[in-house]
This record gives sequence, structure tokens and C-alpha cells, in this order.
Amino acid sequence: MPSVIEESKHGFSDIDEAVCTRCGACVSICPIGVIATDGHEVRLAGECINCGLCYRFCPGREMDFAALSKVHLQAMPGDSLLGHYRHLGVAHATSDEIRQRAASGGVVTSLLTYLLETNQIRGAIGATMREDKPWQCQPAILRTPQEVKRAAQSKYSLLSLDALLRTARDEDGPFAVVGLPCHVHGLRRLQRIGSYRAKFPIVIGLFCGFNLEPAATDHLISKAGFTQGQVQHLEYRGGPWPGGLVIHGRDGQRRFVPKHAYSYVNLMHVPRRCLACPDLTNELADLSVGDCWLEEYAGGWSTVIGRSLQGERLLAEAAQAGVLRMERIGREDVLRSHGHLLAYKKEGYFVRQSWLRVPLGYELLRPPIGVKRWIQQSLLLAAILMLSNSAVRGMVQRLPGSWLAHMSRSGRTAATRAAGD
Ligand SMILES: Cc1cc2nc3c(=O)[nH]c(=O)nc-3n(C[C@H](O)[C@H](O)[C@H](O)COP(=O)(O)OP(=O)(O)OC[C@H]3O[C@@H](n4cnc5c(N)ncnc54)[C@H](O)[C@@H]3O)c2cc1C
Ligand code: SF4
Ligand code: SF4
Ligand code: SF4
Repeated sequence: MPSVIEESKHGFSDIDEAVCTRCGACVSICPIGVIATDGHEVRLAGECINCGLCYRFCPGREMDFAALSKVHLQAMPGDSLLGHYRHLGVAHATSDEIRQRAASGGVVTSLLTYLLETNQIRGAIGATMREDKPWQCQPAILRTPQEVKRAAQSKYSLLSLDALLRTARDEDGPFAVVGLPCHVHGLRRLQRIGSYRAKFPIVIGLFCGFNLEPAATDHLISKAGFTQGQVQHLEYRGGPWPGGLVIHGRDGQRRFVPKHAYSYVNLMHVPRRCLACPDLTNELADLSVGDCWLEEYAGGWSTVIGRSLQGERLLAEAAQAGVLRMERIGREDVLRSHGHLLAYKKEGYFVRQSWLRVPLGYELLRPPIGVKRWIQQSLLLAAILMLSNSAVRGMVQRLPGSWLAHMSRSGRTAATRAAGD
């Protein structure tokens, strides 16, 4: 059988920019290290020898979700909306300190801390805010419970997490990986290589509805009345649940923008490639974690989906050890909590692809989409494309924050209602 290298002579420049999620997997696979990243962009920074590896492993270009589910979760993706799962629940950290600092229930921070303290891992790949530019985030290897706790909270900005996998692979492991669906897609493809399988045995996937270009954070900083140089510390989910953007200035000033008041930037600064992303709940992770938006669980709970046997076992073990408080919920509850973004990803993907035609080799089953849903998703796409225009962005920049906050909240309510129709 020919080797992976012999099978393909494609180079980095054969990967269409339109398919690139900026996951960073190509940085890790390149044998001569000519793909560079600054944390959220990847580019060729030397002479490519056309070995074909980045092309073949790139998850932005093609994904066989069913085959990867079979390999990593030992089952086909039986549920067309959620993928394969063994356990559906809600959970939160039993530590108040962790729960209050975290994005939703502090489940990810609790699990990583537990894995480190019980010596099951040597570290975890996650994301932190940069020290030199505290308004930007970066992938990081978290080696102690303190580092894990400092890294808590969602970072709503693109980041090339998989670029760190090669570095971590060459160190003493094992490591847990926390990533967005596109990061996990990249990792799962890299795990065709045995060393990546052995070094990263536990994969915790975050849900991802929308992500943002770094320019979104620049916009929010300026809207809050700061310049980048005045920012000492930035949190996307600071304050009591559900939290919001907290900017701490070097002069001691603090600004807070509630989460649902700044979600209008999701439409203005969504990376173009994210419009062709079909995965909300991180369908190839061992276990997935999102925000729980059910009214009966308000106050900081995460939705948790155990997918592989080991993902389900880890959740049970952490609950048994008293690290997590966990309750089972049904599929209908998950759909109630995440309905509008499941519609956006699962139906909207096909609607947007019919307009945008991003050249993807994804094998996906198309659900039936009624005329009403087709129109809703098309109008949403039109709004996104209009708001991404630089002249329109300039106008939005001048609108009062209170008006933008009102529009954000109304838009979210309308989207939730439309998903329930
Ligand atoms: C860009 C983005 C979009 C999201 N969209 C949705 C959504 O639409 N619906 C939903 O229900 N949930 C979404 N989530 C997940 C949600 O915001 C929480 O991250 C999740 O509920 C876990 O909460 P927690 O309190 O358990 O995590 P925490 O205990 O706060 O820990 C979060 C962990 O995630 C890691 N991390 C943070 N940001 C990133 C990142 N960008 N890339 C890789 N690792 C990261 C950190 O290192 C940390 O270890 C999104 C998260 C992100 C980052
Ligand atoms: S591997 Fe990831 S970062 Fe590299 S080209 Fe493909 S999608 Fe982009
Ligand atoms: S040398 Fe190989 S892996 Fe590196 S950029 Fe070129 S084709 Fe991609
Ligand atoms: S929407 Fe999809 S492609 Fe975009 S950051 Fe989230 S998981 Fe990655």
C-alpha cells in the first residue's frame, strides 16, 4: 500500500482558502515546519515541498463524520441533530470558586482539574488570554490546576488550537484536549497517526454556534470606550451567569456588557468559513459541553453529552468523586435548550451552502427543510452578509450601545421563537 506521502502531491497552496477553518492541524502535520500561525491565522512561511500531508489531513476540506464517529466513539452518528451519544445531562462544578469563574457550569475546568489531580493527564490543551496583548487569546498547554482555573471561560475568537498538538505530542503525556468542533475535527484526522491517538486520549468538545474574527473584540473594546493599550484584562463571560464582556482598564476602570447585549457582533464578524460549519455540539468529542439555557436550570449549568464510553465514564467518575453535580435530561430538553442554533447549523448549513457553495467534501445527510425554514435561514444569511460589509460595520460602530443591546436581545428572542415554530 502506498504511504500517505506517496499518494498525493498536493501542496499547501492547493487548499482553497474558502475551506480553511484556521484550526491549525496543518501546522502540526507539516514535516518541515513551513506553515506558520500567529495563534489565529495560518499561512505558508517557507518553501513547500508538496509532500501532500496538509492537503490530505485538512479537516476544512473534507470530513467523513460517520467513519470517524465509528472509529472514535465506536458507533455511527445515530442522531441527525446531536450525533452519537450515550448520556445527556446537565452539570455544574461543586466548587463555587470554579463555577463562578467559568463560562457556564464550570464542568470543563472541574474535569481538567480532576484529571490532573488524579494524575490521569500531564496537562491539557486549551485557550488562555495573552499576557502581552490581554485582549487576544491563544492556544496553551495547561499543566497545573492553577493554570486550568486561570484559563476558564469561553474565548469568543478564532484560534488555531491544533497548531499546538505537535509540540504537545513530542512531550511526556498524556494530554486532554479542549476544543471547538473544527479543532476536534482536525485532531480526529491527525489521530489517523498512532502517536496522536496515544498522546491525546481524552477530548472534551465545546459546543460552537458562532465564532468571531478578532476584529469583533476590537470593535467591542472601542465601543466600551477603551483603546487596546488601556486594556489590562478582558473576559468574555465575566460576572454572574450568564455573564458578559468584562474589560478591566489599566486605570482601574471596569466595563460590563451582558452576554446577550453584545451578540449582535455574531452577525457582523462571523468568519466566512463558519457559515459552512455543520457541527454545533462537537459530535466527535468524547464528551461535549455547552451552556444550558433551560429556565429550570438558570444560574450556571452546562449541558453535557457523553459520547464515547470513556467520556461517559469520566463524567460518572467526576460525579462520584464529588467534583460535579450532575442530572440526566432528555433529548427534548437538549433541543429546547439549543433549538435555534441546531436549526442554524443543521438546516441552515444546507441553505447557506446552496447560496455560497463552499467546496467541501463533507458527507452529510440533508434533513427535510420546509419553505418557512428555508426563508428564515436565507434571511439570516442576507443579514450576516449585509452586516459584514465594512461600510455597514462603520455605521454600526456609531450606533448607541443601548440600541445595539436592545437589537441583540430582540434578535435572540426572535430566533428562539422561530426555532420552536
Ligand atoms: C467560540 C465559542 C462558541 C460557543 N458557542 C456555543 C453555543 O453556541 N452554544 C452553547 O451552548 N455553548 C457554546 N459554547 C460553549 C460555552 O460557551 C462554554 O464554553 C461551555 O458551556 C463550557 O462551559 P464550562 O463552564 O464548562 O467551561 P469552563 O470551565 O469555563 O472552561 C472553558 C474551557 O474551554 C477552553 N476554551 C475556551 N475558549 C476556547 C476556544 N475558543 N477554543 C478552545 N478552547 C477554549 C478553556 O481553555 C477552558 O479550559 C461556545 C464556546 C466558544 C469558545
Ligand atoms: S488544516 Fe485547518 S488551518 Fe490548515 S488549511 Fe486545513 S482547515 Fe485551514
Ligand atoms: S511541505 Fe507538505 S505539509 Fe508542509 S506545506 Fe507543503 S504540502 Fe503542506
Ligand atoms: S462555527 Fe464551526 S468552523 Fe467556526 S469556529 Fe465554530 S466549530 Fe469552528
